[in-house]
Amino acid sequence: IRETDTVSRFGGDEFIILIDNTNHRHELKMIIDKLIRCLSTPVETSKETLHISGSIGISVYPDDGTDISTLIRCADMSMYKAKAQGKDTYCFFENKMNIEIHEYLAMENQLRSAVANQELELEYQPIINPLTNKVYATEALVRWNRDSEGRVPPDKFIPIAEESGLIVPIGEWILRAACTQLADWNQHLSAELKMSINISTLQFKDNDFDKMLLNVIKETGVNPLNLNLEITENLFLEDRESHIFTTLQDLRTQGISISLDDFGTGYSSLSYLKHFPINVLKIDRSFITDIIDDQNDQSLVKAIINMAEGLNIKVVAEGVETEQQCELLIDYQCDYIQGYYFSKPKSAEELQHFLRQSQKPALISL
Ligand code: C2E
Ligand code: CA
Ligand code: CA
Repeated sequence: IRETDTVSRFGGDEFIILIDNTNHRHELKMIIDKLIRCLSTPVETSKETLHISGSIGISVYPDDGTDISTLIRCADMSMYKAKAQGKDTYCFFENKMNIEIHEYLAMENQLRSAVANQELELEYQPIINPLTNKVYATEALVRWNRDSEGRVPPDKFIPIAEESGLIVPIGEWILRAACTQLADWNQHLSAELKMSINISTLQFKDNDFDKMLLNVIKETGVNPLNLNLEITENLFLEDRESHIFTTLQDLRTQGISISLDDFGTGYSSLSYLKHFPINVLKIDRSFITDIIDDQNDQSLVKAIINMAEGLNIKVVAEGVETEQQCELLIDYQCDYIQGYYFSKPKSAEELQHFLRQSQKPALISL
């Protein structure tokens, strides 16, 4: 940058550059390209080579604001936008970001009181043994009946709950509601049903997670042998070793089983399958969607099933929508099937009805 420009460290790994006297955006773009190029030059240390990337957000005076704090806020928002688009990118501030951030904050605010206002609800999707057509377990899936806006899908609000930390109380509510339901069902069913519950990585890493789980088990009286927790591969990304391992091991000792969700979409290092106590792999829907026509998907799914069998891990195929897909998966000896082919997620009442129809009458007295 030029002698007349100013560079400052704003805090942490955030820097602000004040570029004076530029008349055109394309002039700014040239400067930014140069910055990104500079940043991407590897840094050699005595031990290793470090690769650095940067995300740049830009606000322009006076178009985006006429005071310092507005300009910084706009640049900050654009920086997050750039970050979301990948590494080494930049993004100019646009007015619609203001609306987006507003909507985001409104959602976070309302989510804060969703539990207290009883706006959360669970649906249950059966996981089926395709050889007997019997329900092996159900997966609890959370729904948010947002006041004015109707139902918000979990893909939209779980990330907000995670970013704001609200996933901890919300996750506790989910766990308690699912266990209460399970205890109720298992009291009325002579066949034991299992409940599979999604645990967000953030929630799992919360220091009080084990304690909270124990409490809920005690309170609801569920048999831990019927509890399954679904975790994702990103749990292993950060503090790989000790803490996660001991927590998982503790859960297993209590009889709780662990599923690895969305398998194949993460960084999929196979070593953790050997090291971590995992009972079930859930093959992600993206491998199943085109499995009839796509040879690569076929090979991958076959390989995953074979590998899991060797490791004594059960396999669930997610997102099975057709009979053809189901038949193929039976052919590959996939243990369990989940998907619209058997059933969409259902309310507790609907699921009870589904169980009555699908289980052998002799086994059930609801
Ligand atoms: P997931 O854990 O992979 O859940 C499976 C999703 O696939 C569900 O979407 C389910 O409705 C959908 N699905 C099941 N079968 C089929 C099928 O045959 N075809 C298609 N197209 N889709 C199918 P849903 O309920 O919208 O949940 C989306 C994601 O939100 C979940 O993905 C999970 O990551 C998250 N989520 C849902 N409930 C919870 C929860 O209680 N806690 C946490 N932490 N995350 C949750
Ligand atoms: Ca899941
Ligand atoms: Ca999944």
